[in-house]
This record gives sequence, structure tokens and C-alpha cells, in this order.
Amino acid sequence: MSIAINKIKKFENENCDENKVFYQAMEEVIYSIAPLLESDERYAKYSILERLVVPDRIIKFKVTWLNDKNEIQVNIGYRIQFNNALGPYKGGLRFHPTVNEGVLKFLGFEQIFKNALTGLPIGGAKGGSDFDPKGKSDFEVMKFCSSFMTELHKYIGPRIDIPAGDIGVGSREIGYLFGAYKKITSSYEGVLTGKPYIFGGSFMRPQATGFGVVYFTQTMLEMEGKEPLDGKICTVSGAGNVAIHAIEKLQEIGAIVVSCTDSKGTIYDPRGVDLCLLKEMKLKNKTSLKEYIKTHSDAKYIPLKEYPDGGHAVWDIPCYAAFPCATQNELTDIDAQNLIVNGCVSVSEGANMPSTTKAINDFLSHKICFAPAKAANAGGVVVSEFEMSQNAAMTKWSFEKVDEKLKLIMQQIAKRVALTAKDYGVEGNYVDGANIAGFKRVADAMIAEGI
Ligand code: NDP
Repeated sequence: MSIAINKIKKFENENCDENKVFYQAMEEVIYSIAPLLESDERYAKYSILERLVVPDRIIKFKVTWLNDKNEIQVNIGYRIQFNNALGPYKGGLRFHPTVNEGVLKFLGFEQIFKNALTGLPIGGAKGGSDFDPKGKSDFEVMKFCSSFMTELHKYIGPRIDIPAGDIGVGSREIGYLFGAYKKITSSYEGVLTGKPYIFGGSFMRPQATGFGVVYFTQTMLEMEGKEPLDGKICTVSGAGNVAIHAIEKLQEIGAIVVSCTDSKGTIYDPRGVDLCLLKEMKLKNKTSLKEYIKTHSDAKYIPLKEYPDGGHAVWDIPCYAAFPCATQNELTDIDAQNLIVNGCVSVSEGANMPSTTKAINDFLSHKICFAPAKAANAGGVVVSEFEMSQNAAMTKWSFEKVDEKLKLIMQQIAKRVALTAKDYGVEGNYVDGANIAGFKRVADAMIAEGI
């Protein structure tokens, strides 16, 4: 453990508010892999950790565009190419006002291990902008995407770096980005994933992360000897791409999903969330969840600010399984205590790092089945890789074929993680299992490739 602690201290002098989430992600990995570092001297000899925590490249650029009033707007764009030991850089683009270098370093770092765990040939990256698509017209989003790509196209390519979507970047944004890339380069190639189906997208990319987290959870519960999800009460946070498709799959397998949230508040619907209405509100009309209770008088809307500091209403609802699917650090130690007291059996992370370190430790010490994001939400990147394969072969797979392959890979990830945890003496700890399995695959490739 001493090697690992010294490494953490060495990187801490760079610590500042912006880097907080990056250090949170890094420390979790370093603590998990401590036994591996102590037992195999190759990792120290080849300075794997020192090399792994520094991105290969941080690209930062200005994005200027004209709004509908013909006023000039300025945003910052980023692409962080973290590690390509296993394959070309791969990871999403996030458009949200909270985006900065630290957030993208955290997401890019996590992406390395997530992509490694899939067993597919893809490296880790992340990018985005502080641009907020909310409240912008279609033309404004189009103009922003076009300007963003004017700079980004210099650094990406189907064998170099293949961005995808994330918060604020759905198929509309990917479509505009792809159109701009094609115009600038005159090249029609699979440089982005998450494209609309009509021009190169894969079936099931929108559903992949949400469905994948449910497939992972089903396998985990079975391996841990727990009851399956059908007929059980589940809580989900978020009302975006990941949350909606997790709810869809949970309902399909017979679970009763009683919640969803957005950035302003929580819906608690004891009869089960009305998915058609939710899709219409969030995917089509982008309205606030507050509107839900207008047509569902049995449901309750709890505004975010009405809940005591440090806790969130959604995690105070008794449930068998919880699925945080909104954003980072949305589930605190107070929330973890509420879930534990209310008898929750499993927590599966659909969002990236939604649980704080303290919350995770509480879950692990209470033997809650805990599925960490880098393993449980890998479904999106798995289907992104399928999209790359289909584009390269100029072919299209059916919905059923993609779904079957996704399910198989999610089951394999869950089994690999559980087996690794057992091999390293931490049976049932999926956090350590995921970190060790992901790290080993990347580190061994880095050693084999030299410096
Ligand atoms: P979306 O933009 O589609 O949805 C995000 C949802 O979270 C929205 O309902 C949004 O509310 C809510 N939200 C955003 N910020 C906050 C906040 N600070 N507090 C409370 N709620 C918030 O994003 P995705 O569903 O695509 O992504 C969700 C998470 O999953 C992210 O962590 C992302 O990195 C991760 N992820 C996504 C993948 C994908 O395939 N899309 C793949 C792997 C991980 P509102 O409606 O008010 O904006």
C-alpha cells in the first residue's frame, strides 16, 4: 500500500478545485490496484502509473459562433486524448456549462479502464465544451457544432480518435458534427459514433448504456445469489438518455420503477413511471419534470431545493435496486445511509462516478451489491465499437443482433470483474475487481509497446 500512497501524494500538489473529481477517480483506482503494484514489480519498473495518470494530449481551443441575433458567442472546446495502448482513442463529448479541463480529465481517465474492461480494441479519451445546448435553437446548435468541428477535425480520424455523445450531445449534435467533418475533409468515414441510423449509426446506440446497466445488474445479482429484478421496486435518477433506457429495460423485465429526476427535482410515482410521457417530455419537448404531475395526480414532485443539504429525495425512496443515471457525485454518504436503512440490495451506476467515495465505502461495508460505472455503464462504448465495425465493413446489423452481442459482453464484463475480485482476495468487491482487471489489460499493453 505504501507505494500507492506515495504515488497519490506525488500528484496531490497539482490539486485544485477544478481537478477535484479527477483526483477522486484517480485515488479510487490507485487504492484498488495497490496489491497488484506491490506484487508485480514490472508496473513500477515501467512507471506505468506515472504514465497512465498523465493524458497523452490535452487539446484546448476557442469556438466562436453566431447566435440567432447575429451576436458573436465564444466558448471553449476540449479533447483530452488520454491513452491509446489498446486501440484508437474513444470517448464521448459533453456540452454543458460545468465542463472544464478537470471534469474531462476525470471522464477520460475513467474511460481508459471502462474501454479496457469491454475486451474491445479501444483506448480512452473525452472531450466537450462549456456550451449549453439548452434553450438554443436548432440553427444555433448547428452553428456551434460546425465551428467546434472546424478545430476538432485536425485531431480525430477513424483510426486515430473517434468521439461519441455524452451529456448534451445526442444524435442531433453528432449529426451536425458529422456533417461539418464531411464538409471540411471531403471524407465520408466513421469518425464519430452515435450517428443517426439513416447515415451510419448503429441500431441500439441510444438504448445501449441504459440497457447495458440492467444486463450487468441481472448478472451481478445472479452471481451474488440475490433475487432477480422482476416484480421489484427500483429507483432511477436522471431523465436523459441513460436513465430513460434503463427505465425502459427495467420495465420490460417486470421491475417497477418509481422515480426519475432532472436538474431541478424528483418525480416519485408509486404506480410506476409513465415512460411514454417521460420520453415525450424529455426527448421531444425538453420540458421540466414538474409538468409530470399535471397528468399524474398520484405522483409527487419534490423540487431539489426542498431536500436537506447533502441528500437527495430520490435516494430516500425505499427500493430493492437503485440506478443513479444523472451525473457525477449525485449520491452522497447521506443518500447511501438512507438506501441502506431502507433495505436496498443493489446499486448500479449508470452515470459516470455518481456515488461519492464515502457512499461507495458505505455500500461495500454493508455488503450491498455495488456495480461501479466503469463496468456497469460500458454498454454505450460497446455499441459504439459495434458501430465502428459496421462502418468499416460497410454493413448494418439488426437490432436483435446488436442487443444479443451487447448482452453477452455486459455479462462477460460482470463475470470478469467478479472473478478478478475473487483472485485478488476481495470477493464481492466489484470496484476493486473492475479497477484491477481494467488496469492490468492497459498496463500489460503499455509494457509490451515500450515507451
Ligand atoms: P443526458 O444529457 O441525456 O441526461 C442527463 C440527465 O441528468 C438529465 O435528466 C439532466 O437533467 C440530469 N442532470 C444533469 N446534470 C445534473 C445535475 N447537476 N444534477 C441533477 N441532475 C442532473 O445525459 P446522459 O443520459 O447521456 O448521461 C448521463 C450520465 O451517464 C453522465 O454521467 C454520462 O457521462 C454517463 N454516460 C452516458 C453514456 C451515454 O451513452 N449517453 C455512456 C456512459 C456514461 P435536465 O433534464 O434538467 O438537464
